[in-house]
Amino acid sequence: MNLHHYDSPTYRMACQQFDLVADFMNIPQNDRDRLKLPKRSLSVAVPVRMDDGSTKVFMGYRVQHHLTLGPTKGGIRFHPDVTVGEVAALAMWMSWKCALVGLPYGGAKGGVACDPRLLSKGELERLTRRYTQELIPVLGPQVDIPAPDVGTNEQVMAWIMDTYSLQMGHTVPGVVTGKPVLLGGSLGRREATGRGVAYLVSRAMDTLGITAQGATAVVQGYGNVGSVAALSMAKQGIKIIAVSDAFGGIFNPEGLDLNQLDTYVAANRSVVGFPGAEAITNEQLLVLPCDILVPAALERQITETNAHQVQCRILAEGANGPTTPEADVILAERNIFVIPDILCNSGGVIVSYFEWVQDLQSFFWTEGEVLDKLFRLLEQAFGQTLAQAKKHQISMRFAALSLGIKRVHDAKTLRGLYP
Ligand code: NAD
Repeated sequence: MNLHHYDSPTYRMACQQFDLVADFMNIPQNDRDRLKLPKRSLSVAVPVRMDDGSTKVFMGYRVQHHLTLGPTKGGIRFHPDVTVGEVAALAMWMSWKCALVGLPYGGAKGGVACDPRLLSKGELERLTRRYTQELIPVLGPQVDIPAPDVGTNEQVMAWIMDTYSLQMGHTVPGVVTGKPVLLGGSLGRREATGRGVAYLVSRAMDTLGITAQGATAVVQGYGNVGSVAALSMAKQGIKIIAVSDAFGGIFNPEGLDLNQLDTYVAANRSVVGFPGAEAITNEQLLVLPCDILVPAALERQITETNAHQVQCRILAEGANGPTTPEADVILAERNIFVIPDILCNSGGVIVSYFEWVQDLQSFFWTEGEVLDKLFRLLEQAFGQTLAQAKKHQISMRFAALSLGIKRVHDAKTLRGLYP
């Protein structure tokens, strides 16, 4: 079928995963396009007045994958490689993720093709506000609720909330999640994705009979997700032997001191050059011998080219879409336990959901309440996915996707087709 303007390697990959699972589940052909194709997409030109007085136009996108279960939910990415096809794939994965963990949302994603590191704070604010303004017709606490992703953070969410609220004439905290706590953000949201990754890693270790003491982990991408996942795993007693970012990686077989590393990264904006560790490339890092490998950067990092060389026992996908379907086949043959992205990084959207609920009720929870509810939902999703994998002798990814896709399919069947 025609992939339209979404055609891109990442969108094709998301469609390939869907088609494989739809075949396994015997989803009627009649229902497949309706489930797979994004419901809406908006492309916007975002003109920004730069500090030097010039005007630069950036391309921005928002894709809402399905509207069957409630408003749509998903992050906003600021990165030079953002395309509408990548955003559509990420929106589709958000749909299966929200359904897997039982949240009343469809999936969405957004992004602006820009390099936020090259923008001044003023330029970044003007870009964020104008992008938000262009999106106003499709945003809202009952319509579509953005959150942080690669290249965006709490400050960007605060500007989105402020811009939307000014247009509405009153403060609307529930339009966005991942905000600063002072503005209606939830305690524990910033750390939720990485903490969730570490929680599921410990559940996978229990399943495989691996103990934390003496176990080693490698993390690609030392941003929000990767740095918190590393710290949370270290707190369990796992040794973090290598981490990386877009500039390169560092390796110390004795384990990295993460407190010192965080101080170094705050001052240097990169892990590269951290004293007491060897330099290593991102390619080398992915194939280091370790118990746990956490890709927490971008899509399509583990492919048919390097899947044979990956030397971990558990692959915990902090990033969305880090493993291609071709690599999946190789990892399965090699008996590597995969915690698939839509399960592994779902802690982020789970606590985003908690933030939205707290905003709608204007009643805020303690961090203990947030964590307790987070771990309960993760435990349930992990248990259901493992049981589905065992029952049908399928991979954890197939199991997670089939549970998520089935819920969306069932919901569409119950609602029927209008008119
Ligand atoms: P971030 O911007 O905070 O961090 C991204 C990190 O990856 C940075 O350290 C960056 O330098 C590094 N990076 C970029 N390109 C790289 C490359 N080619 N090789 C190695 N490192 C590279 O972003 P984040 O929010 O931590 O998101 C990371 C991943 O997690 C993304 O796939 C995102 O979609 C996913 N995710 C994020 C959340 C969340 O709550 N933030 C939730 C679920 C999933």
